[in-house]
Amino acid sequence: MATYDVADRSAIVTGAGSGIGKAVALLLAANGAKVVVQDLNEDAANAVVSEIEASGGTAVAVAGDAGATDVIEATVAAAEALAPLKIGVNNAGIGGPAAPTGDYPDDGWDRVLDINLSAVFRNTRAQVKPMLENGGGSIVNLASILGSVGTPYSPAYVATKHGVVGFTKAAALAYAEQGVRINSVGPGYIDTPLLAQMDAEQKAALVALHPVGRLGKAEEVANLVGFLASDAASFITGSYHLVDGGYTAQ
Ligand code: NAD
Repeated sequence: MATYDVADRSAIVTGAGSGIGKAVALLLAANGAKVVVQDLNEDAANAVVSEIEASGGTAVAVAGDAGATDVIEATVAAAEALAPLKIGVNNAGIGGPAAPTGDYPDDGWDRVLDINLSAVFRNTRAQVKPMLENGGGSIVNLASILGSVGTPYSPAYVATKHGVVGFTKAAALAYAEQGVRINSVGPGYIDTPLLAQMDAEQKAALVALHPVGRLGKAEEVANLVGFLASDAASFITGSYHLVDGGYTAQ
């Protein structure tokens, strides 16, 4: 597991019960951060906390919708109770319905925007305040390769991920001088439960789009997030970082 300078601080990871968020929570905890494992799925969040504790780390679970104000407040309070909050990884996200724009449902559009974009804004807003009081911090927002290119059947997802990239730049500029760094990450297709609705043929088609010849692993995204979260990334803010096996280089 990669090593990063993230000790003596707490970290919030939303959507940390599965996939990329889980890998990030495990990596940060292994490097000494005290982690709030936030997820809609309470059992999944508790299981990640147990895994961290079994390895000698410190973590607490906060269950609920990452976009809900009361959940966000509870998450920040839980982090500050552990150690000064200096890391926020706003990762919770959903794929939403698969349909071209002409057939795309209103309720699916609204739900994808709520979770993938509005929740990222609300969590960032809540995390910035304690970080300013704590002398700085690092926020990493999960975008996607679909934050810079499109795909025909996920218009809401593509819109939200482009939105995360732009929002991250605006937020970063507001706090650059005060030591709160804010960046976004753009993974290619990563083999997590998010892709569970795809069959083997669809996954093989996705593999073919990645020049490295395979899908990514959650741990490979976590390595980039861990670096951006750490003090080693002290001159990096407002930028969008790809981890995509060459997908967008084509
Ligand atoms: P995943 O489905 O494996 O995990 C997502 C987690 O978020 C789950 O534990 C789920 O319970 C939780 N979650 C969903 N809605 C929530 C909500 N409203 N509040 C709190 N938690 C909620 O997904 P993943 O593949 O690990 O994706 C994580 C992030 O990475 C997402 O933002 C996704 O868009 C992004 N991403 C994923 C891929 C990929 O190919 N897997 C590629 C690019 C970007």
